[in-house]
Amino acid sequence: MPVTLGQIGSFRVGKTAGKLSPLELILANIPEESHCVICGRKIPYYKTYPSKDRFLLCRDCIGSSGWESVQKAHQEIFGD
Ligand SMILES: [Zn+2]
Repeated sequence: MPVTLGQIGSFRVGKTAGKLSPLELILANIPEESHCVICGRKIPYYKTYPSKDRFLLCRDCIGSSGWESVQKAHQEIFGD
């Protein structure tokens, strides 16, 4: 199961359960909504999948191009 922006955001702010608040989204530097670059669907952050080639995709389009590990995704996307 690929990692979502929500999981990465929670990792960044140290949250273990529940959705991120608007302030936590800002602190985590995560967009609340994105558009899938393949199908154009509007996707909330907790259903947005970052791909290793640096696009934001929905569940239907991510395939095997996402990360399987939150820590690894966080490190490669944010580099900290
Ligand atoms: Zn899509």
